[in-house]
Amino acid sequence: MRSWSSPEVPSIADSGLGAGPVVRVHDTATQRLRSSDPTQTARLYVCGITPYDATHMGHAATYLAFDLLQRVWRDHGLDVDYTQNVTDVDDPLLERAQATGVDWTELAEREIELFREDMTALRIIPPANYVGAVETIDLVVDMIDQLDERDAVYRVDDDLYFDVHADAGFGSVSGLTEDAMLQIFPERGGDPDRAGKKHPLDCLLWQSERPGEPSWETRLGRGRPGWHVECAAIALEHLGTNFDVQGGGSDLVFPHHEMSASEATVTTHEPFAQAYVHAGMVGYEGEKMSKSKGNLVLVSKLRAAGHNPMAIRLALLAHHYRSDWEWFGEEIAVAEERLAAWRAAVSRPVAPSGSAIVEAIRAAMSNDLDAPSALAAVDEWAEDDAAADPQAGRTVRTAIDALLGVKL
Ligand code: ZN
Repeated sequence: MRSWSSPEVPSIADSGLGAGPVVRVHDTATQRLRSSDPTQTARLYVCGITPYDATHMGHAATYLAFDLLQRVWRDHGLDVDYTQNVTDVDDPLLERAQATGVDWTELAEREIELFREDMTALRIIPPANYVGAVETIDLVVDMIDQLDERDAVYRVDDDLYFDVHADAGFGSVSGLTEDAMLQIFPERGGDPDRAGKKHPLDCLLWQSERPGEPSWETRLGRGRPGWHVECAAIALEHLGTNFDVQGGGSDLVFPHHEMSASEATVTTHEPFAQAYVHAGMVGYEGEKMSKSKGNLVLVSKLRAAGHNPMAIRLALLAHHYRSDWEWFGEEIAVAEERLAAWRAAVSRPVAPSGSAIVEAIRAAMSNDLDAPSALAAVDEWAEDDAAADPQAGRTVRTAIDALLGVKL
């Protein structure tokens, strides 16, 4: 699938300041910060959208978090191999298409295009491999065959299920107890009570054709892939095993990332990813912002209302990616003021030391992508009226662009 166009990412090293530090990120599986320092190329998988509605601030915050990670890796001198999927056939998409009388492929296409436009406006680095579920059917079928060879697949009616206990390490991503898993599973698409399952937590791999729904003719019969195996198959195909970071919103920890990791591990006998990194949830009017609740603040609406995308980006950067936070409308005005102050500050002919502030931004961002601390450091530099460095404006502009993705 076509990705979106990449923003230019300038090199701080070209300003004579060398390479940035190794990044440390919080790994959900171990509940610790861990250094991510691959030899040459960092491999990243981030779960993409189900395209049935427009990009809201919660999505934007998640994709921004992994954009920041790529920027810190790049500043350290690494290449980044980034894959993201689009779940372009799934229940919520089909339900929305049916409810609104729109063809499901048209709905998906329209929302994916809007997502591309939002990501481009926010200067989010695109994946090299942007892959849809629909174009992945053969890969998923191959993976289910391999799981079957390992006795990890069974049939319930004409649907295929993954036996989660085929993976001795099941549960190691989320660290949840079985009771906690059983509570969350039905809230996030699982079907613990379906008759005929060996274990309530076993998850759907292949859904046989349902009347009026799209399906594909395969050697597994007519049907369509489950969500977890879709991501596992795409990640293994494009990144291989044990890639550096599996990312997404914190609502994907269980069951989605747990299941994908188990399915991949049973298939390959290798770890799926080295670290599982999760972005917090964005709330609005007292609840998690979600399509199903309908309490959405849309990036496209903010843009249409005339807000500068760089101010939207700054409003998001003011929150640490791991924190859960609530969107209040006035944040955009604060971000617009900050943008204006920074623009004025980098335009000064002589400013306080550029190398010190670059070091502060690098230190903050390599410490679990601590954007709020980086913003505070730039604010302080912008307010400081010591005239010491005629190169500082240009250097700081480059660093803000390279590490925070804000073009001044
Ligand atoms: Zn996924």
